[in-house]
Order: sequence, then C-alpha cells, then structure tokens
Amino acid sequence: MSLSVVATIDGMRRTLAPLRREGKVIGLVPTMGALHAGHGRLMELARRETDCVVVSVFVNPTQFNDQQDYAKYPRTLPRDVEFCQALGAELVFAPDAAEMYPQPATSFVEVAGVSERLCGEFRPGHFRGVATVVAKLFHIVQPDRAYFGEKDAQQLAVIRRMVRDLDIPVTVVGVPTVREPDGLALSSRNQRLSPEERSLAPAVYRTLQRIRSRIADGAGDPREIRQDAVAELERVPGMRVEYLEIVDPEEMRPVGRIEGPVLAAAAVWLGSTRLIDNQLCAPANASPSGRLPPEKALRRPTK
Ligand code: AMP
Repeated sequence: MSLSVVATIDGMRRTLAPLRREGKVIGLVPTMGALHAGHGRLMELARRETDCVVVSVFVNPTQFNDQQDYAKYPRTLPRDVEFCQALGAELVFAPDAAEMYPQPATSFVEVAGVSERLCGEFRPGHFRGVATVVAKLFHIVQPDRAYFGEKDAQQLAVIRRMVRDLDIPVTVVGVPTVREPDGLALSSRNQRLSPEERSLAPAVYRTLQRIRSRIADGAGDPREIRQDAVAELERVPGMRVEYLEIVDPEEMRPVGRIEGPVLAAAAVWLGSTRLIDNQLCAPANASPSGRLPPEKALRRPTK
C-alpha cells in the first residue's frame, strides 16, 4: 500500500474502516511534525509490530502555553510526508487546527496527579492539551497500538494513566530515546539552537549520566544529587535549569530516598530554547533494565 495523506477526520474514518474489517493491526505514531530519527524509531517499531502505520502530524495549539512558541514551532509537512514514505508508513493524518477544533473545545481530558508535576508545574494546561488531543486521535484512528517516546517520559506516563483510567482499548508502547552521537536527545526544537548553544547542549545528558552512575554506586539522597547536578548545569554559559528532579517513574512524584528505580528528569533553557531529557536510574541491586516500566507493570492488580 502506498502512502496517503489525509487531512480530514471523515477521510481517516473512511480510509481505515475497510482495513479494520480486514483485521489489519493499526499502529499510530502521534507527532507534531518536523520529523527526525527519533520519530523514525517510533515508526520503525510500529512498522515491525503492526500492519498499517498511521503517523499524525499536527501542531496542537492547545498544548502550547506560550503562543510565540506555537507560532515559531517548525512546520515542514512536505518533508515529513517524504520521511514517512521512506519509512514505510501507510497513512499520514495532517489536519489543520480548524479540522480538529471547529469550535473552541469545552470538553477536556484531565489526568490529575501525574500531570501536575515537573513540566506540568511550569507549563500550566500543557498535559490537558496533550491528553485531550491524544484521546481525540485515539477516537479518530482507533489504533491497536500507539507509540510514544521515552524522551517525553511524563507525557508517556500521562497517556498510560489516561488509557488505564478511561479503558481505552489501545496498547501504549514506549520507545527509548534516540540521541545524537554526543548524547543530545533528538528534538524538533534543537534546530533553534545556535552553533554555540548546540555545542553546550549535551551537558544535560552528561549531567543525567553522572546522576545515573552516582545512584548506581549507592548514592541515596536525592537532595544532594539534585543540588550538585543543578550547580553543574548552571555553570554552563547561557543555561538555566527550570527543574531537575528525581522522581518515581510512574507518578513523577519526587522521592525522599532512592531505594529502587527512579527517573532523573530535567528541563533546561539554553538561551530561548527549552530542552527536556531524562534518564532512568537504579541502585546496583535494583532493576537493571534502564527502561521505563512497561505497560504491563502499570496495570491494576487483580483483586
Ligand atoms: P513531538 O513531535 O516532539 O511531539 O514528538 C512525537 C513523538 O516522538 C513523542 O512520542 C516523542 O516522545 C517522540 N520523540 C521525540 N523525540 C524523540 C527522541 N529523540 N527519541 C525517541 N522518541 C522521540
């Protein structure tokens, strides 16, 4: 099947209905476009695990709490379509804002708790926008499997919680972060870094790696680790730490003492660009997988 680009919800439903009737397994990769190898990894996995890969490309206005950030977000649809074609996707869903929000929305998906910490604290309304648009995409595409990057670990936790709470029949798959050779996590926002900023940006990854080895070596006090890490990052010219926290990987709640797997998560500003990254860490005697907990581990215990 060659690639089709569909801009309407009705068009998506009409295209997907016969495939679903044939029993095809549908995979969804939700994106905001400006596609790079990080998105590519999600698509490759979807390609392997499903019969029909749908990539949505939609810069969702309701998840931006800064209108300037929304306005300057890169939009590269023709290139994105070529990228999806090269990776063997079947469908690109590229609606405009009027298609997704014909009138200002009055219904929202709010995932309390996990949405309120880390990025949620600094970007009010962000995760409500994310959860709502992903719920809409799930209703439009009705995928069997949906792929999300671990780079946005809190987003992944929010989506997993939403799917569980609302019994949405989709398997959420987390995909490890794809990085540049120097460790910088690939992000559409990296394009905005000046050459000088780009050369400084891997400091975030290096600091997270140092946290990881300290924790593996037995450091148990998150406050001490946090203080040293923030000081290290603030020494980088032009870098300002928005948050750096050591949290539990499901609820994103800061931990008092490190006794099992934790997530070190950071958001930093480099000039006018905001970068986020995270690293799963564990004491040497705890889970060695280096991955976020799979969906199975998050399911409710049976009574
Ligand atoms: P975005 O277009 O930035 O909203 O990202 C769309 C999806 O791609 C999200 O699930 C992201 O977590 C994922 N993603 C973005 N960057 C990376 C990366 N470097 N590695 C893996 N997944 C990524």
